[in-house]
Amino acid sequence: MIRAVIVDEIDDHLATPGAVEIREPETDSEKLVGFAFVCPCGCGREGYVPIDTFTSGPRWDWDGNREQPSLTPSVLFRGGCQWHGFLTNGEWRTC
Ligand SMILES: [Zn+2]
Repeated sequence: MIRAVIVDEIDDHLATPGAVEIREPETDSEKLVGFAFVCPCGCGREGYVPIDTFTSGPRWDWDGNREQPSLTPSVLFRGGCQWHGFLTNGEWRTC
């Protein structure tokens, strides 16, 4: 289990496995919400999970908790390490 450290700028935390930047719209015209994160496995790659009800395609549900977020369904890191697991209550758990 890896704790998801919530950070302001993911690019400053690429050495922190499981770090999460919650990207929320700054204006009403911007609808895209998403989670940028550093792969929990330690490979150092950055991933992105869109949470957006306004476009089609893959997206995830977020419970709205900023300190200990949960995402559903599971997250698969395509390419590279192929990490697969869940972010639940602010903790990454490998499947
Ligand atoms: Zn990885």
